[in-house]
Amino acid sequence: MELNANFKKIKPSGIRKLFDLAQDKKDLVSFGIGEPDFITPIHIREAAKKALDEGYTRYTPNLGFPEFREALADKLNLKNKISVIPEEVVITSGGTEALFFSFYSLINPGDEVIIPDPGFVAYESQVFLTGGTPVYLPLRGENNFHPDLEELKNCITPKTKAILLNSPSNPTGAAFDENELLAIAQIAQEKNLVVISDELYEDIIYDGRKHISIASLPGMKDRTISIFGFSKSYAMTGWRLAYLTTEANLIKEMTKLLQNTAVCANAIAQRAGLAAIRGPQDCVTKMFNAYNERRNVLVKGIDEIQGLSCRPPEGTFYAFVNIKETGMSAEELSMYLLEECKVVTVPGTAFGEQGEGYIRLSFATSLDMIKEGIARIKKGIENIN
Ligand code: PMP
Repeated sequence: MELNANFKKIKPSGIRKLFDLAQDKKDLVSFGIGEPDFITPIHIREAAKKALDEGYTRYTPNLGFPEFREALADKLNLKNKISVIPEEVVITSGGTEALFFSFYSLINPGDEVIIPDPGFVAYESQVFLTGGTPVYLPLRGENNFHPDLEELKNCITPKTKAILLNSPSNPTGAAFDENELLAIAQIAQEKNLVVISDELYEDIIYDGRKHISIASLPGMKDRTISIFGFSKSYAMTGWRLAYLTTEANLIKEMTKLLQNTAVCANAIAQRAGLAAIRGPQDCVTKMFNAYNERRNVLVKGIDEIQGLSCRPPEGTFYAFVNIKETGMSAEELSMYLLEECKVVTVPGTAFGEQGEGYIRLSFATSLDMIKEGIARIKKGIENIN
């Protein structure tokens, strides 16, 4: 078959490659997987069971149950300070779908979208799939992976349609502060660009930092698509549930995307999501506290290993570890740790060229595993030196 040429532009996933190699190995410690190790909180699971018993087994409206959109609009107003009405909320089958809808809605052939390097792997692939051209904004270790505004301006051309922002960021753990976001907002307004803001990790942000939604800043609401999810905050990766908010006209057009793809997000998942949003939030805090404790143990343990250095991530459950002193490339070291130490990590280069010199460690795993993993990595690194 003659396939859509856009497929050819997508590189094989660097993460998948490593996970495939890890498959038949036993006794592994994995820092690989980017998803919470917790089971979804009980009251959310109970709500799903109840929804089934009550017969929520049919299609829902394309953009989601009105009651759920209302609850999310309340949350967006109160917590994210984005003034939103329920009609401006779209429920999607996961953040990945919300991202796809965003790119698909905006991109005409040849349009450029600025994406972070290193960044979540789906950004590049989705820009390619939707016929756009990714332009890579380098996020550099010497800036703690925060954007350099001059470099951002240099990425902008007459073809630039949108900027993808991800804070707190996968894989770097950087969380952008209000001043940075204000400066980016100003550039977006001057250059008439859309901002797609991936805020999946809004609840995992450390040391008293406050998560800021760029759409809450003056003049930004109508030029931003803000994406939020359930996967990370409520440990709901398998439910496939997320939501976005943007200006009303784009929402109207997005209805066509829902109508002609998944039709709607899963009805049971939406009922569970409603319980998550309306219910007690102490489960979010509890999981956050666990990540915080793990972060501190992991960062200290890794930083003490000769040849590795690790700044505490500002958000997310990822540590982006500087490995330059080992003299190995990111891929070489990840392979070595897998083969010789039975530890799964992800080479920074899986997220873009700027990830060279770094490996990503996910600490969404137990403290015991983290301690065992650190001990193995220490021994492995000592054997190289
Ligand atoms: N954005 C980022 C930055 C992510 O890390 C992920 C998941 N790894 C997603 C979006 C997508 O999450 P989901 O599709 O599970 O909602």
